[in-house]
Amino acid sequence: MSAAGGTEAGDGLTGRTATELAGLVRAGEVSAAEVTEAHLARIEALDGEVRSFLCVASDTARSAAAEVDAARARGDVLGRLAGVPVAVKDMFCTSDLPTTAGSRILEGWRPPYDSTVVARLRAAGAIIIGKTNLDEFAMGSSNENSGFFPTANPWDTTRVPGGSSGGSAAAVAARFAPLALGTDTGGSIRQPAALCGVVGLRPTYGRVSRYGIVAYASSLDQAGPFATTVADTALLLEAMWGHDPLDSTSIPSEPESALARLEEGVAGLRVGVVAELAEVDGIQPEVRAAVESARNLFEKAGAEVDTVSVPSVQYGLSAYYIIAPAEASSNLARYDGVRYGLRAPADARGGYDVATMNALTREAGFGAEVKRRIMLGTYALSAGYYDAYYGQAQRVRTLIIRDFARAYERFDVLLAPTSPTTAFELGAKTSDPLAMYLSDVCTIPTNLTGATAISVPAGLDAAGLPIGVQVLAPALGEAVLLRAAQALESAFAFSARPNLRRAA
Ligand code: GLN
Repeated sequence: MSAAGGTEAGDGLTGRTATELAGLVRAGEVSAAEVTEAHLARIEALDGEVRSFLCVASDTARSAAAEVDAARARGDVLGRLAGVPVAVKDMFCTSDLPTTAGSRILEGWRPPYDSTVVARLRAAGAIIIGKTNLDEFAMGSSNENSGFFPTANPWDTTRVPGGSSGGSAAAVAARFAPLALGTDTGGSIRQPAALCGVVGLRPTYGRVSRYGIVAYASSLDQAGPFATTVADTALLLEAMWGHDPLDSTSIPSEPESALARLEEGVAGLRVGVVAELAEVDGIQPEVRAAVESARNLFEKAGAEVDTVSVPSVQYGLSAYYIIAPAEASSNLARYDGVRYGLRAPADARGGYDVATMNALTREAGFGAEVKRRIMLGTYALSAGYYDAYYGQAQRVRTLIIRDFARAYERFDVLLAPTSPTTAFELGAKTSDPLAMYLSDVCTIPTNLTGATAISVPAGLDAAGLPIGVQVLAPALGEAVLLRAAQALESAFAFSARPNLRRAA
């Protein structure tokens, strides 16, 4: 579990924070090429066990690193992520690498442009090291819905890394990259961060541009950072956020730096423990205990902590599983066999008009969970059922927004578990979609309200698996959120690492 044991001692470059690496590159103590080679070598040696990448971008990463080194040699001012490897969830369009969203229906598709977030990271000097595995179209909580293969949890390769951004969380946990990108529609950054023992933040809706990110549920989708520390999380967030005219839901104001205020502490901060989530059905006792320790640590650090009831959170899961599939059924209509990737040939049934080609392509290209969501969503939106399902879910959403607004009259931030349990065994929930959906019960409320939340590692359970605790803040509250998370990180002092064997 420690850095000892040969495999982790390695090259002295993998396992460092992004902040450290950027500093070393800026100072000329190491080159971007050396940093890139060290991470590529580690991926080559160890990703066979974890399978966090769908595509390792060796060539383009090497040329990006060479550009950073050339810029430094010329005396150019380097970007804040110059020379730092970033693993990118395969939901983000990249003009130089395939983009699959984890789906066979996009196999072979190469986007004609970069997503805004990827373009901003490249401009900041980041090295895109590869595209990470995910549940197909980000629908899932374990990575087992990937159209390609499941990713394993680096802490125990018989277990899931969480999802849907499981590949990104696993890549950071395995030190294949100090930073990674994810998307969080119902918890897909925070839940895998918790299960892999890393930090993951879901920003306020509209803070980060959705332009060029494959759409799942457009009123809930937001991109965000993974890192091993809160400071690195803030560093990546600040390289990706801010207004983008190409996304009509992008918030027009420019955010204030959160990094600058990270160390201000939590004295006098009002922290509310969400009663309904701290005692959620099926919560593992060690997760409950971790939330309890977080509460005590906040108190010791001078925060004013109390319990708060947010009664409507118990309806969040039901509302989400109407709204998200409804939006998905509309977004996924574009995969018609004409515009992107796969086109299935005629089959034995004969006949190949446009409707048949559409149907055969969708039948062959989409996995079972995606088909389930499309059917659920289409049903919820159909005439005669729209008001009973979709309309009702939207009313519940409003109720949850009001309940949180009331809680934030008394509290600056809220505290809750991230996931009710630590990482479960691969295969444990694949035959029971409802059990899988329950993994998101503590994260979904934030997506429904459009607010921001973070998962921070809080320790290990008896099986040696990481536990995450979640801090929540109101919309645009990233600065106070990160400050509270920083205080928790210092207090928990979580330093354990997964111990990967080097492949024979
Ligand atoms: N697990 C949830 C779902 O399947 C959340 C996914 C996400 O945040 N992308 O919809």
